[in-house]
Amino acid sequence: MTAAIADTATKTKATTPAKSSPKSVLDESRQIERAAMLIQMGARMQVLESETTLSYERLIRLYKEIAGKSPSKGQLPFSTDWFLTWQENIHSSLFLNIYEYLSKGVSLDAVELLTKAYRLYDEQMRMAQIEPLLSFTRAWRLVKFVDAGMLTRTACKQCGGQFVTEPYENARHYTCGLCNPPARAGKSKSAGALTL
Ligand SMILES: [Zn+2]
Repeated sequence: MTAAIADTATKTKATTPAKSSPKSVLDESRQIERAAMLIQMGARMQVLESETTLSYERLIRLYKEIAGKSPSKGQLPFSTDWFLTWQENIHSSLFLNIYEYLSKGVSLDAVELLTKAYRLYDEQMRMAQIEPLLSFTRAWRLVKFVDAGMLTRTACKQCGGQFVTEPYENARHYTCGLCNPPARAGKSKSAGALTL
């Protein structure tokens, strides 16, 4: 019971970072730990700024120290298109299914959930010798799009699998990219691409 309450308290604190509150040493060390973990996952600055309370300058220094290089400049395009193209959609759907599955079972904060889901996705891809097309930053962006209601999951009417779609997709007529691949699909000669 006490553990459950403590857990909820940590969860609330982690999901609503208060930038103005006096920072305790403990909280700061947690933020650094979190930023370091995200950098190791390959997260870009956008993710670090959104998911930690550390200053931009601080994050840049940490990034250089951990990644051994400056973070890449520029933002990811703010568009849902990437997640809806054939091969990318299959990767995105795989990741989101893992994410949704985990979110129902274990009590983790948003960043822990994302990291855990991403590690599992990456592991599955590597075991199948498929290049993990979805980067950690893309996975983060995908979850944000889903939270904002800009993307959702729809069940394929043929195989019943859940795939990333636009929210207004007609579920009665939806067929996924595996059941109904585009003509060019699976013709890629590049290593690690999906083949049918
Ligand atoms: Zn299908």
